[in-house]
Amino acid sequence: MNAAIGRWVRPEIQALKAYHVPPAQGLVKLDAMENPYTWPESLKEQWLRALADVSLNRYPDPSSQQLKACLREVFALPAEQDLLLGNGSDELIQMILMTLAGPERVVLAPEPTFSMYRIISATVGVPYVGVPLRDNFTLDVPATLAAIEEHQPAVVFIAYPSNPTGNLFAAADIIAILRAAPGLVVVDEAYSAFCDESFLGRLGEYDNLLLLRTVSKLGLAGLRLGYLVGPPAWLHEIDKTRLPYNINVLTQTSAEFALAHYDMLIDQTQRIRAERQRLQQALAQLPGVTPYPSEANFILFRVAPGRAPQLFADLRGAGVLIKNLHGSHPALHDSLRVTVGTPEENDAFLQALERLL
Ligand SMILES: *Cc1c(COP(=O)(O)O)cnc(C)c1O
Repeated sequence: MNAAIGRWVRPEIQALKAYHVPPAQGLVKLDAMENPYTWPESLKEQWLRALADVSLNRYPDPSSQQLKACLREVFALPAEQDLLLGNGSDELIQMILMTLAGPERVVLAPEPTFSMYRIISATVGVPYVGVPLRDNFTLDVPATLAAIEEHQPAVVFIAYPSNPTGNLFAAADIIAILRAAPGLVVVDEAYSAFCDESFLGRLGEYDNLLLLRTVSKLGLAGLRLGYLVGPPAWLHEIDKTRLPYNINVLTQTSAEFALAHYDMLIDQTQRIRAERQRLQQALAQLPGVTPYPSEANFILFRVAPGRAPQLFADLRGAGVLIKNLHGSHPALHDSLRVTVGTPEENDAFLQALERLL
């Protein structure tokens, strides 16, 4: 390595691997929890007309007032809670961590979980502690409470439903964590469109509860829009770390337009939920394949020992891209994750997998 790089790049950054997104050109893309459905042509034309009125020469509304009002209405956000927008919920995770970071503070999360909690903790220089889930991927409450007692974390991240396992933790277990945590507890509901549970109704009951959501998995991953809901006093501080104009004008206008057609997105997510059930049942029929229950738009499944990396590569060779999790965490040995696609995409995946097994 170049000596100046070795000398100046912070050691925690040198130790990181850049977030890798595999090429998907020409493949059935079932790796990234995207909604597979597009919009009818007539709607696309209306959207383009809305975009034509946008002033690209001007900075966007710095506080995204109109979009916030729209989000509040569509998602029935509690009026007494504040709302903060991010360039994807990833940016909000970064803002939360920049607000709380310090070498003496700790971030805590049950593991395996969404990898960005650990990665962003490293980039902002705050130690990260993962507490292993139980074998069935439920929260290990005694171990988590003991870790909270020991490390006094500034923030605990809980994905609900969880990624990459797909399950919902017991609400009572999360409440036990909320009660014990000395700092913030961020309940990350990235997959709220695919389940019936939410902590939205509990905001206000706990001073340290923040709710994180995104429109990515709902069907708008290309816009990069996440939102954070929580007590005004906390969000007031976190907002100071936000770069001016972080939500660009194309995203503001497009999100408002898309949310005016929320019914269509709901219809799409209902189809994904129905396909999730079919895919789950079909996977369970395959020899040596164990799918885990999912409340999200993906399914984690285990295959025979030692076969996951080759199956992943052979599926890609057969034109289907999923995610190999073997090697990413000890609890995910022999595991693969498939995003629920259209019926045709799911069939292509199932047929290729059946052939390869
Ligand atoms: C996908 C995902 C996110 C990131 O969403 P963006 O809004 O696209 O940045 C956050 N949390 C979890 C648990 C996710 O799976």
